[in-house]
Amino acid sequence: MIAWALRRTIVPILVAGAISALGCSLADAADAADTAATVAERLGHEAQMDDWGYKFLETMTSEIGPRLAGTDAEVRAAKFAEAKLKAAGLDVHLENFPMTVWERGIETATIEKPASQRLVLTALGGSVATPPAGIEAEVIVFRTYSALLAAPLGSLVGKIAVVTERMVRTQDGAGYGAANRIRRAGASEAARRGAVAYLHRSLGTDSHRLAHTGALDYADGILRIPAAALANPDADQLERLAAQGPVTIHLTLTPSERENGQSLTVVGEVKGREKPDEIVLIGAHLDSWDLGTGAIDDGAGDAIVVEVGKLIASLPQHPRRTVRIVLFGAEEMDYSGPAYTKAHIDDAARIIVAGETDFGARPIYEAKLPAGAAASSFGSVFGGLLPPFHVLLSREPSRQGGADVDGLMRAGVPIVSLQQDGLDYFDIHHTADDTFDKIDPAQLAQNLAVWAMFTYLAAESDIDFRRLPSPAP
Ligand SMILES: [Zn+2]
Repeated sequence: MIAWALRRTIVPILVAGAISALGCSLADAADAADTAATVAERLGHEAQMDDWGYKFLETMTSEIGPRLAGTDAEVRAAKFAEAKLKAAGLDVHLENFPMTVWERGIETATIEKPASQRLVLTALGGSVATPPAGIEAEVIVFRTYSALLAAPLGSLVGKIAVVTERMVRTQDGAGYGAANRIRRAGASEAARRGAVAYLHRSLGTDSHRLAHTGALDYADGILRIPAAALANPDADQLERLAAQGPVTIHLTLTPSERENGQSLTVVGEVKGREKPDEIVLIGAHLDSWDLGTGAIDDGAGDAIVVEVGKLIASLPQHPRRTVRIVLFGAEEMDYSGPAYTKAHIDDAARIIVAGETDFGARPIYEAKLPAGAAASSFGSVFGGLLPPFHVLLSREPSRQGGADVDGLMRAGVPIVSLQQDGLDYFDIHHTADDTFDKIDPAQLAQNLAVWAMFTYLAAESDIDFRRLPSPAP
């Protein structure tokens, strides 16, 4: 109840002067512009009062649970989203694409020497298995990833390489970006030096005994060795013990892979009333890791974009351009962006702007538009709607949107980035703790309001984000 009361306190109250004209790019300058801004403001208000997206997230995470890419659960989630979007009045279809499906098996590790104790870890997505009985080997601990890279070829023969470098906590997720290669590339770097398995301190900022999974990338031509992330206290434990003398562990991982699987993406559209071929695309990914129920990653994003679709479909008249809601399949296993870009490369020129929300459910604090847009009349209208939501319109252009849309960006599609506060995102990200109770409905509503306002304004305007003058230096 407190959360709902809080919502009402942040409903925007705009002074008339804050709504400037959407600009000469609109047919009827002032009247139409005021109407667009007023409708956007009302959408922002409604977004805060409506819990349809929050309920969508509650049902999906409760009744379907985890939605590992390529599994029946992902299909059920897609059917659920399809039904909800259809009921909300959108035109909906599903798009399939092939993938290799990876599923977790047993994952155990025990320190055998100097004294027996269990370790908490979880296999990385895509990891090969150990033999069924596991492997036993001495560990070599590297306190930084650079130290692993500096180890000579052949120096880890028969060993288990362990990297215990700590990820840095940042608001914008830069710490994750910087540490990502530890998980992505570490196994092949360890194998190149002769290791039989690879473990790393989780890419997480918590100190709980929960390991953070995530996909790895095996390098071509290098032996594929089993790889897992240690819970952070367990990595610390190995680091302390290894400083005192030899440490031997027994590791068992039994994940499996299946070729010829498939994933699917759900697409819902509110057709534009004047320019249906021009598309404003916003998305999130439908799949999740299997350890939790994928509430912050990325069920929250799904909830935001489906409700934006529902709110815009409910308007008395559709915006001039088409709004396309995309729930991408198989993002966590790295298929979503390439698959969508490949399937829609011919569409790309018709996509006016694309954005995705895949960073949890904490409030948006900054909006980054395509280059030149912040200083445009569009930017001044959108920026005028943001202060009640405590969001800054950045003068910096957006440079990336996320894994699902960056392929479109490389194909020339302008990108919007609505940046969420990620200070505690990596406490939970990719762990068993990613569950519905972590979602604050008022914060989710703030996200929803900002996305709804942006999406509507972009779809109602004539702005061409590809042809804006470069901002002054
Ligand atoms: Zn995600």
